[in-house]
Amino acid sequence: MPPTPLVGPFDGASARLRPAEPGRLAVDDLLLGAVGAGWVEPGTVAGDTATVRVSTSGITSPDAVAEVLDAITSQVRAAGIARLLLETDDEDRDRYAARTGGTLDVTLVPALRVTNSLGRRVQRVVTRDAGAVGLYSCGPTVYSYQHLGNMRPYVFADSLKRTLQWRGMHVQHVINITDVGHLLKDADQGEDKVEEASRAEGRSVEEITRHYTQTYWDDLRSLNVMFPDHWPKATEYVPRMVDFAAVLQDRGFAYPLPAGLYFDTARQPGYGELAGLDFDGMLEGARVDPVEGKHHKTDFALWRTFTDGRERLMQWESPWGLGAPGWHLECSVMSMSLLGDHFDIHTGGIDHRELHHVNEIAQSEAYLSDGRPWVRYWMHNEFLNFGGAKMAKSAGGILRLADLVALGVHPLAYRMLLLQSHYGSQLAFTEQLALNAHVALKRLAARISEALGAAAGGDGLREPVTLAEALDEAAVLGSSELADRLLALDAAMVDDLHTERLLAVLSDWSRAPSSLPVAEWEVLVRAVNTLTGLDLGRLRPADFVPPLPPDIDVAWVEDRLAERESARAVKDWALADRMRDELATRRIRLEDTPSGTHWYVTGEG
Ligand SMILES: [Zn+2]
Repeated sequence: MPPTPLVGPFDGASARLRPAEPGRLAVDDLLLGAVGAGWVEPGTVAGDTATVRVSTSGITSPDAVAEVLDAITSQVRAAGIARLLLETDDEDRDRYAARTGGTLDVTLVPALRVTNSLGRRVQRVVTRDAGAVGLYSCGPTVYSYQHLGNMRPYVFADSLKRTLQWRGMHVQHVINITDVGHLLKDADQGEDKVEEASRAEGRSVEEITRHYTQTYWDDLRSLNVMFPDHWPKATEYVPRMVDFAAVLQDRGFAYPLPAGLYFDTARQPGYGELAGLDFDGMLEGARVDPVEGKHHKTDFALWRTFTDGRERLMQWESPWGLGAPGWHLECSVMSMSLLGDHFDIHTGGIDHRELHHVNEIAQSEAYLSDGRPWVRYWMHNEFLNFGGAKMAKSAGGILRLADLVALGVHPLAYRMLLLQSHYGSQLAFTEQLALNAHVALKRLAARISEALGAAAGGDGLREPVTLAEALDEAAVLGSSELADRLLALDAAMVDDLHTERLLAVLSDWSRAPSSLPVAEWEVLVRAVNTLTGLDLGRLRPADFVPPLPPDIDVAWVEDRLAERESARAVKDWALADRMRDELATRRIRLEDTPSGTHWYVTGEG
């Protein structure tokens, strides 16, 4: 549904608002003759609250700014709207603050700003189309389980998406599934990760990718990560990848070798900008792939041709011979196929900033050759480090969400743990940190439920809400305290997604449940759940089984289990049962399944 236009063209003595692409009004400063020095979006309405986004920091004459504000407020007032949320450039706030007032209740709100890896600075997010966002997140390679650190990019992208929706933006989100083309060590040559897993596990490629996609999705559900609009699989886009690569070759950006089709990185003047390096800098850091005939160390495979005559499970015909697409190519093709040639925000882990995303940009901008940046905002989350982590690891030596859950940690406590740090900070994971987050979430959930009283547990508490809707409800309830709190939540998130600040203010409020009436807590909790996905007011004490207490040594438990396995192997059921009972006295319950014995910590000791 197109937004109701509240603000239309306007001609004044000092400023002019005229229609411009796409869906915005261009602001001309008539006094200084500056054309298109700013813009105004037509605005949206929620209840009795209108939201209008403006950018006029490029306009120098104060009279022109005053006229822009007058044009907006008079048109909004004429539409019978009582309240206006005005989203401005930060640099502009003081000029507007000095002029708001009168019969229209105007609240100035800061615009969403994020750290753009391109240029390494915090910038206002201005999308291609007014009110809409195209968002692409690099997805998993589904050849094994995702470890805890692999989940951070999706919780981070989810925070971003939730904040955009909270600000009334329509988000089109894509996460790809890499089911071919990602080679061991992220290299250009060697074995495909999925194919290797298929061989190692003795299962078909389809079984492997289906299984690891499902477990990845299960983890996302447990973490309350909203699913994207599209889950493209790389294998479904191979013909388009071939076409894309052929265009690059036609335009002279790629050259064929026996090993495949290679992208000529020297042809892209801006190559390496995202990594913060120039071409020579990239050359220095480049791994030397043993590929005969490569022009530059940084050149990468768009297509890998199989020359060893060995039969692969995944291979396709192409102008460069039987082979498979390069990993970098996949993301360019899937994102452009679903979001259009240019879209707004591309996210991923920081490890992608130096190579994968550099190569995505190079090939996409070469393909488009329209002189415009392919994607305007590149956002990267920092690592979760496991240096200090000491706990049982599942098969394959990786630490999964399921391992935390087996220790009794609520999955949303892991989400909480991630939200307790800014996405741009490295986070050193320890088991103790997860246990602390579990306790913190349990306590927070209990306090919020207490504040909600009989309203706790209601389905409405997980209904998403926008800032404008929530403020409209605050106005209906006549509560400036609620409005202030909503604006405090908002301020933390739109300032580069400072989730840890949001949690800090929420924790303060939760200590005084009677500081707001129940009806106002309901609005506040809906807003918090919209932004954090923590499901507060819905989590019950029973959802929190006690986590593994410090007196239980995981290695000791694992040793007992191994001993018990040996006893079972020689059918010494009496010993196996005795060991089960011994573990039970330490609150460890065993469950024997065809895939092995699982253990849980039960009840308080
Ligand atoms: Zn990618």
